[in-house]
Amino acid sequence: MNRTRIIVAILLLLTGMAVSACVGGEQPRQNAKGNRMHVETIVVGPLGVNCLLIDCGNGEGVIVDPGAEPGRILHLATSRKLKIVHVINTHGHFDHVGGNRVVLEATGASLLIHPADVAQLKRAAEIATMYGLSTEDSPPPDRELSDGMRIVVGNTTIPVLHTPGHPPGGC
Ligand SMILES: [Zn+2]
Repeated sequence: MNRTRIIVAILLLLTGMAVSACVGGEQPRQNAKGNRMHVETIVVGPLGVNCLLIDCGNGEGVIVDPGAEPGRILHLATSRKLKIVHVINTHGHFDHVGGNRVVLEATGASLLIHPADVAQLKRAAEIATMYGLSTEDSPPPDRELSDGMRIVVGNTTIPVLHTPGHPPGGC
C-alpha cells in the first residue's frame, strides 16, 4: 500500500524535487526552479491506500490513486483551491481506482493509467467482492501512460516510469 508514495517520490526526485510525503501529512517542497509544490497524502479505504493530492503550482493539481472515500479527497482539493487536471492511477488494483468515477465527474479531470492495467478498471467491483469488500468500477482512461512520458501540470513536470512487477501496468 506504500507503493504510491514510493513511486511518486522516485518520480519527483528525478525532476530535481525531493519529496517524502508522510502518512496523513503535508510536505511543502520546491522544485529545481524554486517553484512551490505541495504533496499531501490522504490514507483512504479499508486497505489504507495512500492517495496523493499534488499541488503542481499555478492553481493546478493532480490526484494520484483515489482508491476510496472520494468525498474526503475532493473536500481537500477544494479547500486547497486546486483545479484538478489529471487523476493518475499508479496501477489498476481496485483499492487504487475505486474513487475514480466520483473524482473524475466532480473535477472534469482526465484519467491516466498504463494500458497494461486498463482491463482492471472495469473489474474493480468484482475483484473487491473476492476480498469481502465493495467498490465501484472506474471509467476508461482518457490517456494511457507510457515509459518516458512527461506530464506537465501547473509549473511541474512529472516523468513517467513504467515499473511492472506488482501488476504489469505499474507506473
Ligand atoms: Zn496493488
